[in-house]
Amino acid sequence: MPHSSAHSARALRDAIANGQLTAEAACQAALDRIAARDPELHAFHTVFAERALERARALDRSTGPRGPLHGVPIALKDNITVAGTVTTAGSKMLATYRPPYDATVVERLEAAGAIVIGKTICDEFSMGSSTENCAFGPSRNPWNPERAPGGSSGGSAVAVAAGMTPLALGSDTGGSIRQPAAFCGVVGLKPTYGRVSRYGLIAYASSLDQIGPFATTVRDAALCLDVISGPDPKDSTAAAVEPPKFEAALTGDIAGLRVGVPRGWLREGVDTEVMARFEESLATLERLGAVVSEIELPHSRVAVPVYYLVATAEASANLARFDGVRYGYRAPDSRDLGEMYDRTRDQGFGPEVKRRIMLGTYVLSAGYYDAYYVKAQQVRTLIRRDFDEAFADVDVVATPTTPTAAFPLGALRDDPLKMYLADTFTVSAPLAGLPAISVPCGWTDDRLPVGLQLTGRAWDEATILRVADAFERTRH
Ligand code: GLN
Repeated sequence: MPHSSAHSARALRDAIANGQLTAEAACQAALDRIAARDPELHAFHTVFAERALERARALDRSTGPRGPLHGVPIALKDNITVAGTVTTAGSKMLATYRPPYDATVVERLEAAGAIVIGKTICDEFSMGSSTENCAFGPSRNPWNPERAPGGSSGGSAVAVAAGMTPLALGSDTGGSIRQPAAFCGVVGLKPTYGRVSRYGLIAYASSLDQIGPFATTVRDAALCLDVISGPDPKDSTAAAVEPPKFEAALTGDIAGLRVGVPRGWLREGVDTEVMARFEESLATLERLGAVVSEIELPHSRVAVPVYYLVATAEASANLARFDGVRYGYRAPDSRDLGEMYDRTRDQGFGPEVKRRIMLGTYVLSAGYYDAYYVKAQQVRTLIRRDFDEAFADVDVVATPTTPTAAFPLGALRDDPLKMYLADTFTVSAPLAGLPAISVPCGWTDDRLPVGLQLTGRAWDEATILRVADAFERTRH
């Protein structure tokens, strides 16, 4: 069995608080599990055993107040900076880059007593759905190592699913937390845009990127969001909205809650087993007292093309900084500055990143800007408007997280368009800035997990967490 929720972050924290376990022993257990499982699964790019054990011992010695994650090991996607440690974003460009500062989420986790244990494999600059675009990948799905773990935050999903760490952080731009969570059978939450500081997150598409947790239980995801969310003077897009206590929202009661299902959108090619698990999930929600009705999200049908215009445009701007001068890799033996730029970018970036920089540069260039970029922004507004209208009648929107369960590694590698379709149901929420969660909802016949996605109103993570938690309780 890859994991057991008996090893939840909360259970671990409580065991440490009760003196049943030291933080050092918890940390050592995570390191042992990594040593046992990671040679096959390759969730981690770097493990900081010494740094983590030292911190754990310091926590064991401390007599001050205990944070809500006191002694809990956590893994971070390798696009989140930890001062002085290598942070690659899955790219050769940053293979030896050591940022001089901690991401805000890292400061908050450590202040809460969490122990950062290492950095996980991800697609290069978060561009991908399988970790196969990683310069150091791929990771493997713990339920079937021949299958993709999902991406781009695949390593974080694997770390949690395989019981290496009870919690991990990823980032989600078009599905990169929810899709690997679904593929690996864990909980993954993308918060509302602006809920969590992006300071220290290596940017892919700045109007979409958001950091969020992976966990084995919804409650752990809520607990982690409680720690990492909230305003941050270092990131002006981290909204000045004080978050509620998310863990307190998990009442188990969803009687009367209205669930909207965009049936028109779902008719476009969902695998039959995934659809069957989805229908069963709706029946479960109804049994819990929810009222399920059909809604329309007409513009979400074109969310994938809109996403690949907006995200690539922003990526082309964000990745301009990797020029061999200020950061990371520099091609050797160039004759002049122009050649150094060319060769650095040619050698430092992988093929998918180059494809997206070219596409993004194209859609922003004179003559195409209005036809593609502006048009995409207009449709993005319509996607958001559809949700606003739907949320007049329902409290959450339910879809499968992904159209299929985990595909085999290699199957879509050479077909970027097919790979992009793995994002069919996950790109709308970030385009609309909304929170969305993936919670495990069953299995395919060949024992691959299936995810249920719940999307909520902006700033209303509490409701999707409450529904996901109530749903999860029926499954244990
Ligand atoms: N799979 C999507 C992509 O390739 C989403 C990535 C993400 O959310 N970072 O862009």
